[in-house]
Amino acid sequence: MRERREDAENLLKEIWLSLHENFELKDVDESLKEYLIKEGLVKAGNGLTLTEEGEKRARKIIRLHRLAERLLNDILGMGESQIEESACRFEHIISDEVEEAICTLLGHPTVCPHGSSIPPGDCCVKGEREVGRIIFRLSELSPGDEGVIKYVVGGKDLSDKVVSFGLLPGERLKVIRVFPSFIIQIGNTQFALDKDLAAAIFVLKHENNRKNDTKVEEKTGFFRRRKRFRGK
Ligand SMILES: [Zn+2]
Ligand SMILES: [Zn+2]
Repeated sequence: MRERREDAENLLKEIWLSLHENFELKDVDESLKEYLIKEGLVKAGNGLTLTEEGEKRARKIIRLHRLAERLLNDILGMGESQIEESACRFEHIISDEVEEAICTLLGHPTVCPHGSSIPPGDCCVKGEREVGRIIFRLSELSPGDEGVIKYVVGGKDLSDKVVSFGLLPGERLKVIRVFPSFIIQIGNTQFALDKDLAAAIFVLKHENNRKNDTKVEEKTGFFRRRKRFRGK
């Protein structure tokens, strides 16, 4: 039964992608389609479209999938080939509370590792509940803060600039000062960055908010499970 729910959710996701992101919908399973129509999520007419509730549900699944990708890629360091399957499981099992915790932890990311946009959730709009956050835009850090570059968002211009500076994911950096210009240090080299560039670089911040990390770890079953596995 659970398999069937996941299959139905996957079809719902594909319909959403076909409506919003040029995904080509093919080989649609008739019984799953009927099921989604019966559930009031899909409207059949000239092509498949979503009801308001269907749109909401699909958007949520996409959001969870892409958040999971960010988590697996940025925090757990899994490669792109490994993250797809896990993210596909994740999207069906993350609860609302864990979703918010993960999103906050990641600094409310706007794109997945493939560059597709992550539909914002309530937590992103509110911008509250920042407890436990560990990924920050570089521009949000203060002098003395240290961290590791995790990813860069923005267009090709920005990413080209980032690469030409050698500001690659995995590099450790320290913020030297933020005014009048934003200066960071990597190894023995210091760089002056403009605000746009500093805002485009997402950093896993070290040490000084470790207490907060623990709170999130306690709150999310995900981290609890991980700990337990490690213990056994
Ligand atoms: Zn993705
Ligand atoms: Zn958020």
